[in-house]
Amino acid sequence: SAPLYIVPTPIGNLQDITQRALTVLNEVHWIAAEDTRHSQKLLQHFSIQAKTLSLHDHNEEKRTEMLCKKLQAGESVALISDAGTPLISDPGFVLVRACRAQNIDVIALPGPCAAITALSASGLSTDRFIFEGFLPVKTQARKTILETLLDRSCTSVFYEAPRRIVDTVTDIKETLGDDRQLVLAKELTKTFERYICDTPDGVLAWLRADPVHQKGEFVLMVSGAPRQTDALPADAMALLKRLKQDLP
Ligand code: SAM
Repeated sequence: SAPLYIVPTPIGNLQDITQRALTVLNEVHWIAAEDTRHSQKLLQHFSIQAKTLSLHDHNEEKRTEMLCKKLQAGESVALISDAGTPLISDPGFVLVRACRAQNIDVIALPGPCAAITALSASGLSTDRFIFEGFLPVKTQARKTILETLLDRSCTSVFYEAPRRIVDTVTDIKETLGDDRQLVLAKELTKTFERYICDTPDGVLAWLRADPVHQKGEFVLMVSGAPRQTDALPADAMALLKRLKQDLP
C-alpha cells in the first residue's frame, strides 16, 4: 500500500510551509483537505496540482473507507487541515486509526501548530503541559474542566474562539482566582501577533479595552497551581490527624 502523509500547513504566515511539505503535496495522488475551497488558495499559491477531496467532521467515517481503499491500491494521500497540524483539534483521527489497523504506513511531517508555537514563547513552564483543545461551550461543563486545574501543577493550553474568549477568561478567574498567570497568544505568525501576559483580571481588562482585542485567533495558557512549600508531607499530615483525634 501507499503511505498516508500528515502534512501541517501555515497558521497565518505562508512562509511557514516546509520544503518537505511542498515536496509531499506535489508528489501525492490525492490531497484530503478539511475544506477544499479554503485549501485551494494555499495550493494555488504554491502551484500544487494534486486532486483534492474533502475530509471533515461530518464525512470522516465514510471518507476513511474510500481513502483506505485508495491507499491499499497504491495511491498516496496527504491529509491537510485548514491551518496547522491535522488531528490537533482538527479531523483525521478516524482515518489514522483505520490506517494503523490496516497496516497502512502513516508518515507525519513536523510543522506549524498554534499550541506549540504559543507555548514556546509564553514564558510559562514548558517541561510539563496539558493540551486541552477547545473548552466545552456550556458554562457548567466548562467550569467542570477548569476545576481540574485547581491542583494541576503543570501549564494548561487551550484553543478558544473569539466570541467566547471573554467568558472563558471570566470563568477561569471565578474558578481559579486571580493569582494564576495567564498568557493570551493572539494572531500568531500574522501581522498583529501579540502576547498578553497578566493575571485573569489584567487579561480581562485588556480584552475589554477595545473590541478589536477580542477579534482574531487565540491560544490561552494558564500557569500551574503554585507549589505549597509550607505544607507538611502527606504522612506527617496523616499522623497529625490521628493525634488530633486523641486530643481531648
Ligand atoms: N490544527 C490547528 C493547529 O495545529 O494549531 C488548530 C486548529 S483549531 C480548529 C483552530 C484554533 O487554533 C483557533 O480557534 C485558535 O484557538 C488556534 N489557532 C490557529 N491559528 C492560530 C493563530 N495564528 N494564532 C492563535 N491561535 C491560532
